[in-house]
Amino acid sequence: MLKLTDNFGRSIHDLRISITDRCNYRCVYCRTGTNGAAYAELPFDDYLRMARILVGLGITKIRLTGGEPLLRKGIVEFVRDLAKLRTLDGKKPEIALTTNGHLLAEIAQPLKDAGLDRVTVSMDAVDPERFARITRVPNGYDSVLAGVRASRQAGLDPVKINCVLLRGFNEDQIIPFGMFTREERVVVRFIEFMPLEEDRVWTPEIVVRLDEIVERMSEYLPLEEMTHEHSETARRYRFSDGVGEIGIIAPVSHPFCGHCSRIRITSDGKLRTCLFSAWDHDLHELMQRGATDEKLTEFIVKVVEKKEERHHIGEPGFVPASRTMVHIGG
Ligand code: SAM
Repeated sequence: MLKLTDNFGRSIHDLRISITDRCNYRCVYCRTGTNGAAYAELPFDDYLRMARILVGLGITKIRLTGGEPLLRKGIVEFVRDLAKLRTLDGKKPEIALTTNGHLLAEIAQPLKDAGLDRVTVSMDAVDPERFARITRVPNGYDSVLAGVRASRQAGLDPVKINCVLLRGFNEDQIIPFGMFTREERVVVRFIEFMPLEEDRVWTPEIVVRLDEIVERMSEYLPLEEMTHEHSETARRYRFSDGVGEIGIIAPVSHPFCGHCSRIRITSDGKLRTCLFSAWDHDLHELMQRGATDEKLTEFIVKVVEKKEERHHIGEPGFVPASRTMVHIGG
């Protein structure tokens, strides 16, 4: 049985598909204030064919992302079609979604009913005014909070919150997020800021690192580190009274490339083997030229074998990725 493995022996079982690179938010650390480049979107059937082939090669988890994936009409039907695929073990693939949550309240239950297992909502502040300054959209906070609550209500479990902290901007939100995880019964995950933004503002100093987050949060309530799966990207902690969980994804201070299990498909159908890839690989063009499933499989296997060993964030001679986060799919 052919399973995706790279030349460093890593097994690849995690797929992210960006279904659009349009976004209704303009988060200060992600996008410029203007519209900028936009790549094509493919019909859902094209992503579905790619996903089917990849699931046949050992992918067990599919995350839909963007841009903002909920801007795409037809996402519920797409999830329903993905849920009909079967992994090499004969199971339904795990299906997850990353969203800014703005349009989530209405669609959380239909997505769950269609086969969505989990949702991650991005929130970089838990106060409405700060939230608006970060997203550059007025009055978004209440919609997102409603989306978070609707997701829990729909049984999307656990609901995770992604928060990117920037020094001097929202680092004071650490403890408020500690309260939020306890009150809203969601898992809050802090992600270290990576140099993947459109405005090229990244510096090592702006990154709020794992140790600092743990130290600051412990001033609020004592934390206990939890055991985590080998391939899990987040270090997990719970409060010592058992209420509330936080995770920290620390690609800058504690890189986890050695057990990376991910590949990505961009909205225009390019295969990427690393967030920081300097190239991507045009799977869609091959499809357009009439390639058979066997040809596509051969192409994918060869591309994945050459997955980059690691990223080089913060090292001299660091070469920026060929695309920024919003155009890759975070
Ligand atoms: N629009 C959706 C959302 O807001 O979740 C999906 C796309 S967004 C690019 C995915 C995630 O990437 C968000 O949680 C966002 O905070 C995170 N992100 C964006 N730029 C980042 C960067 N430079 N470093 C780390 N995370 C970043």
